[in-house]
This record gives sequence, C-alpha cells and structure tokens, in this order.
Amino acid sequence: MGACTGLGVCKGLQTFEGNKPCPAVRTLAQVLLDNVSLLTETYVEVNGAPLPRLQWKKDGTLNRHDAGLALDLILFANRESEKQLASEIIEAFLECRPEMQWYSIIYMNFQYDRFGTRSPYTESDLHMTHIHIDWLNYGLYEQTGKTSIPWPSEAYRTGFADILTERLNRTYSSW
Ligand SMILES: [Zn+2]
Repeated sequence: MGACTGLGVCKGLQTFEGNKPCPAVRTLAQVLLDNVSLLTETYVEVNGAPLPRLQWKKDGTLNRHDAGLALDLILFANRESEKQLASEIIEAFLECRPEMQWYSIIYMNFQYDRFGTRSPYTESDLHMTHIHIDWLNYGLYEQTGKTSIPWPSEAYRTGFADILTERLNRTYSSW
C-alpha cells in the first residue's frame, strides 16, 4: 500500500502538512498509515466532527505533542477489536524498541519507559481512547528550565521503517 490510496490516508497525512513533527514521529506515522488500514480512517469525536486516528498536535501549548515528539493512535479500549489491535501494535513497538528508541508508551492504565519496563499508569487521565508514544527526553526539557522541549538524538531516527513494517505485517493476517 502506498500513501494516498484512499481518502482516509490523505486525511491522515494532512495533519502533518505544513508542520514539523520530528523525523521519528513522521516515519512512524507513515509506516502505520501504510500498514494498518484502520489507522488511515477517521473516527467521530463526541462533538460529531470526523478526526484522523493518528494525531500528533495538541493545543499549541508547551507540551511533548506540539513539540513534535509524540503521536496518538486513536484505538478505543472499550471496543474489543480495537483493544486487540492496540495490544498487537504495542507488542510491535516493544519488539522494535532497539531500532525505534522511543521514550514512553501509554495505553489504558499501563505505561512503558524507554527501557521497555512496564508499570501502572496512575494519572487521572487514563488512556482509554488512544495509544500514546513519544520521544520526550525529560532531562533535556529540565535543562532548559522547562522553557522549551528539545529533540533528543533519538527523535531523528528513521531507520526503523523496514523492521517495523515487517513486524506489523507478521501479525497483520490475524487482525
Ligand atoms: Zn499523547
């Protein structure tokens, strides 16, 4: 599947045009759009507006999303098929961690740190609607006095596209 094979794919890509998420986020989004068809589609937000299932921007404030270091994959945990897909995708991210070198993944009530260590996610904002993945290096953020969010070297990684594609396609037939 190439880019723009359908309306949903183009819509998904539009959220990236004219902006600059980090190379790792751009690469990840493209691999997902090319290999996980559900993520090329839109979903209906509570206000009735159709939104892309891949989202990198938030509200324009200083945060890891608007800094271009994070991606949300909208997959509802209360829908069994989407929850299953989410768990397959997280398994792929974990397996490809040496190549991707992401910093954190959050879904439902659990999270993984950059070493792949799983722990409970206890913030009030449980991630029941999306997988969050990011390349935020909190130490670099602190070094700026929390005035900006620098991109760590890992945010420039793009070489994981092939291995992640292969990993996703290995389970794709069972989706
Ligand atoms: Zn997020």
